[in-house]
Amino acid sequence: MRFAFWVTKYNRYSFVPLYYLLDKSGFDFKVYFSVDELEEADFDVLFFSFTTLFAEETYKVLSKLRSQRNFVAVAGGPHPTAMWQEVLHMGFDAVVIGEVEPIWEVLCKDLVKKNLRRVYSSKLSACFPKYSLRASPYLSALEIVRGCPFGCRFCQVSYMFGRRVRYRPLKDVLDEAGEIVKRGRRFVRFIAPNALSYLSRDGVTPELGGLRKLFEGLLDVGVEQIYFGSFPSEIRPDSVNEKIVKLMAEYCYNKRVVVGAQSGSNYRLKKLNRGHTVEDVERAVTFLNDYGFVVSLDFIFGFPEETESELKETLVFMERLLSRFNVRIHAHTFIPLPGTPYWGKKPSEVPKWFKRVLHGWERDGLLDGNWAQQEHARRKLCVHLK
Ligand code: SF4
Repeated sequence: MRFAFWVTKYNRYSFVPLYYLLDKSGFDFKVYFSVDELEEADFDVLFFSFTTLFAEETYKVLSKLRSQRNFVAVAGGPHPTAMWQEVLHMGFDAVVIGEVEPIWEVLCKDLVKKNLRRVYSSKLSACFPKYSLRASPYLSALEIVRGCPFGCRFCQVSYMFGRRVRYRPLKDVLDEAGEIVKRGRRFVRFIAPNALSYLSRDGVTPELGGLRKLFEGLLDVGVEQIYFGSFPSEIRPDSVNEKIVKLMAEYCYNKRVVVGAQSGSNYRLKKLNRGHTVEDVERAVTFLNDYGFVVSLDFIFGFPEETESELKETLVFMERLLSRFNVRIHAHTFIPLPGTPYWGKKPSEVPKWFKRVLHGWERDGLLDGNWAQQEHARRKLCVHLK
């Protein structure tokens, strides 16, 4: 039985654990990076992992491939987890809800026996699932944290991976980093909802000793450049304190970090369940700038029920940060995501006067991000919402 996985720029990080599982199972499998490659390929089972913004495109590709050959299509990832009925309706044979690791063996047995269930739903594993990029010909950022205790109302992480935070054991992280070095790469990046939460007892307060061991261990295995708290991880403002920033300045190569601010209105932050205030954001930026880090601040505009006066507050806050600190704004337009409390809620319009300011800052190099494309995408996605 030949297995295939379609890698896109949106699922390239979820592909490493699956690669490990496929390799361990001893199946004949291959990864494909384009639809053209898939059209030429031979396979019996094709795995898709996709997000909501990529769902429409995925359905089109599935239908095109289906018109050319017979194969079994299995879906997983954030969109199928929340929208499994839709995914089955759109032509998939089976859907994996949640993490694939706990149900992997059952799924494989059923595929071999040609006795596939429509839905494979698993309880989250108690520990961080064991996998390694050793099997994979492609190197990737190292995933170190799964789950998030905060449950922000717009974000899928807590609803998909749970509120209990699971950490990849330090030894495994260092083994993986050693493997990366052996294969000729001198830098490492990490995947974590909040990099500073790694090994933390409450999922937010940094564990200074543990992070020091991580950084020292990385240097010991030959890593020359540690990128921490920058894409594809970021940090929460309330995890930032002076001691941890000093430690990062001592060991980290990156001079830019990403901090989730999301709004300049404390009322809105509370409604979002963020668990921090605008004052926490300013405090975090102060420490980070003091130790030489440029801060890229994530903001999201157009939440359900967000008012113009809240957006004005956000604007004033962003202006204040831009004028006093070494920061850039990383702008997003809110998109309701399935599985979150905001799914099905109508986003608020981002007013023209606000967008004019964003465009101006973009021109001046003070702001970046895909906020304009996201606004376009959400129009299509939310067309049915009144
Ligand atoms: S936005 Fe960040 S802090 Fe909030 S739930 Fe998602 S990962 Fe956690």
